[in-house]
This record gives sequence, C-alpha cells and structure tokens, in this order.
Amino acid sequence: MNTITFDGNCPQCKLYDELHQMRKNDKFWECPNCSLQILIEKENASILRFRGSGDLKMNFKGYSGVVPMQETGIDTYSNGVQILTSKYLIEYLLFKVEQKPKYSIDNLKNTYEDYRFRGMDAEPYLIQSHHFRIDFDNEEIEDILGLRDKDRNLSN
Ligand SMILES: [Zn+2]
Repeated sequence: MNTITFDGNCPQCKLYDELHQMRKNDKFWECPNCSLQILIEKENASILRFRGSGDLKMNFKGYSGVVPMQETGIDTYSNGVQILTSKYLIEYLLFKVEQKPKYSIDNLKNTYEDYRFRGMDAEPYLIQSHHFRIDFDNEEIEDILGLRDKDRNLSN
C-alpha cells in the first residue's frame, strides 16, 4: 500500500496525473486548477471541505515541505482522520469536499442515468467518469456508493 503525502502539488489533480502547484490565497494553499484548499497546521496538511475563490497571491511561492494529509470537519478544523491512500482520498473528495462545479457527483450520476436509461449521448458521462476515474459499469463503484450510503444513513 502506497502512503500518499502532500508535497505542495494539489492532491486532487495528482489523482489525474496533473501537477498543479498550490498557491497561497489569504490563509490557505489553493489549487489554481480545481480550487481545492489546504491548511498547513502542526505539520499536517488539512484538506478543507470548501473550495477557494481563485483569489491567489501574485508573489508566487509554493509550499516546499512534505507532510501527511488529514480530513477536516464541517467546521474547517481537522477532525484527526488521516488520509493515507489514494482510494481514501478519492472517497473524501467525492463525498465530503465541495465539488468543482463542472465535475460533481450529481453530474456524474445524472449524465450516467441520461446515457444508460434515457438513451442519451454517452460523452458527458464519459467526461465525468474520466474525471473521477469511476465507471458505474465497473463493480468497484458499489463499494464506494455503499460507503456513501452508510455515511448518509441511507438504505441501498
Ligand atoms: Zn487541483
């Protein structure tokens, strides 16, 4: 199992093999591509649940450390849960962190239903599917959706 860490590059974009060095906004580090925000506190990178506004400082200097990542609660404070694997990071990003508007779990779901059950074009779904690296026609998705349902106290 590979343990993942924060090294100044956006951990979400890294999942798609894109390197985007996070930049300082007012208080946090923010990704110029997907607006994910990170707060460095006590040698940990806390991934915030809400996205930044793209208000990045002009004097560009990236974060230069390598630190473990952790979740934050709704209150933006660390909840002490460490993010150690890509799989866990994906689940956290999908179900806890505010989505980038163009790509969202709702868009993923809706475009899938359109293509699968309403006979519409598959391409919008494939774009979402590629972004999240999730294919509903693949069995692994059931585990992830099961976790989400458990998290939200939904039945199957
Ligand atoms: Zn990013």
